[in-house]
Amino acid sequence: MPLDGNGGYTVRHYTLDFDWKAPRTPFDARTTISATATHALSRFNLDFAGNTLRTVTVDGAPATAVRDGDELVITPDQPIPHGRTFTVQVAYTADPTQQRQRSDAIQTYGWVPTPDGTVLCLQPNGAKMVFPANDHPSLRAPVTFRITTPPGLSAVANGRLVERLGQPGGRVRWTYDSENAIAAQLLQVAIGKFTFVDSTGPRGLPVRDVVPGGLVGGTESYRALTAEHLAWLEQRLGPYPFRRYGVLVGDTDLPVALETQSLSVVPRANLLGDKVYAERDLVHELAHQWTGNSVALRRWSDLWLSEGHARFYERLYSDTHGGDSFEAAMRAAYQQHDQWRHDDGAPAEPGEQTLFKRMRYDGSALVLYALREKVGEKTFDKIERTWVTKYRGRAAGTRDFITLASAVAGQDLTPFLTPWLHGQRTPPMPGHPDWQVDPVED
Ligand SMILES: [Zn+2]
Repeated sequence: MPLDGNGGYTVRHYTLDFDWKAPRTPFDARTTISATATHALSRFNLDFAGNTLRTVTVDGAPATAVRDGDELVITPDQPIPHGRTFTVQVAYTADPTQQRQRSDAIQTYGWVPTPDGTVLCLQPNGAKMVFPANDHPSLRAPVTFRITTPPGLSAVANGRLVERLGQPGGRVRWTYDSENAIAAQLLQVAIGKFTFVDSTGPRGLPVRDVVPGGLVGGTESYRALTAEHLAWLEQRLGPYPFRRYGVLVGDTDLPVALETQSLSVVPRANLLGDKVYAERDLVHELAHQWTGNSVALRRWSDLWLSEGHARFYERLYSDTHGGDSFEAAMRAAYQQHDQWRHDDGAPAEPGEQTLFKRMRYDGSALVLYALREKVGEKTFDKIERTWVTKYRGRAAGTRDFITLASAVAGQDLTPFLTPWLHGQRTPPMPGHPDWQVDPVED
């Protein structure tokens, strides 16, 4: 996604002001960005799509802003010297109907309207439809959200509710603080008639589910499993990396679940059906809080590290909780691996169109399975825990993983992992000489 993300500055902080009106209805919005110039800047870009641009200021002075496709090109009144911290304010009328489509697991992304509000599913590069951003998976900044809602509606966003303040006309202003830096793709803002359901996870971790009123009872039994899921994942990956967690039940028919940071969105249907599938989804999005969120992607080609890990733990959990056998799932993925390499690229070789195809999920979980077969469970578990500890709160990529795995295992795993991750043909599975790969069909 070569046009997403911009150079010349580092964002220090975003503040989003949303004056919400009603579903699918334009509303006044303002984004305030505090950034530091990493070069002398006569102009700079933000990623911004749709919406109606009103005014742009830099350090309070009107700036020239030109839209070029999905780029917002800003020329400040005065050039910004290298090293200077500056403030950009973009006022616009937001269009909460904007969506885009992908022909992979993402399907629809952007604003996801609900009967009484919205949720957001911005992965991979939909943030630009919501606010002007420096939208790259490796780039993170803390976010303050100030969302004003009409009477009877609630707003939620990533992180902690800081303040709930009455406004004229019965409106309420909700202020949230993301607490941790967050990549634009992992932002969540949801508005609706919500019930907040508080509980606690391991060591008193605050868990707050956000549930459309009519769905509280129907989703309760699966939502109540979060504490167990947290304990199970902490056993493998160490302490949960953020200060709180929760499940946001999406009142939508779209089949999108997403690991929005500290508040995963899961569509209602996934929590009203079969338990095995519900738990797979819940564990998957929760595992992402460690891998994909806390450990961010260096670039989109590293997505296998995020989705592969999430699918690996999802399937490992399911194995002992009523689902398919882990080994059988991995064997099935092995059979199809040459076909997926052909259709979707090797695990670490996605294209823009094939990014969220099955290879990044089961196909990449299989790479981790192969690594576990190669080094043994004990060493593998140590690699995993070291990975999420060393890179906690940082971006990391494929090369970093290979280097770390090699160091922990005490052997150079480059010759082993390179063909698994980049090659055209699936290597033999260690310990399973009888496993066969199906021939590729064009
Ligand atoms: Zn995922």
